[in-house]
Amino acid sequence: MVQDPSCLFCKIVERKIPSTVVYETDDALAFRDIHPQAPVHIVIVPKKHIPTITDVTLPDLHLINALFVAGNRIVEEEQIRDKGFRLVMNCRRDGGQTVDHLHLHLLGGRQMHWPPG
Ligand code: AMP
Ligand code: ZN
Repeated sequence: MVQDPSCLFCKIVERKIPSTVVYETDDALAFRDIHPQAPVHIVIVPKKHIPTITDVTLPDLHLINALFVAGNRIVEEEQIRDKGFRLVMNCRRDGGQTVDHLHLHLLGGRQMHWPPG
């Protein structure tokens, strides 16, 4: 799979940078966030390099499915399915995106607040 050699999450997918992987399929990888914002904070990425939400094309939609399927599996394993959790996707500067490889944050294990900061 062609990746962006300068992309942090591509390097994690390719195991060039270590991470704590919690779930993996052919299409998606999930690993613990290095700066967790909640007792459970997992980053779920498509293995394919897609920079951000607005770069998702119709043929990529199965990859978005894969992120949510991963999330559903992980909340079972982390035992937060019934208590609840939050899924967040940040997009570009105002959205707070710091890594330009599409990713879904899975946060749980504490009460979340609204509106987010
Ligand atoms: P965002 O700010 O939405 O782009 O999210 C990027 C996330 O990646 C942040 O929550 C970071 O803490 C996390 N992160 C950055 N570097 C690493 C890493 N090497 N391993 C795991 N998570 C990371
Ligand atoms: Zn990437």
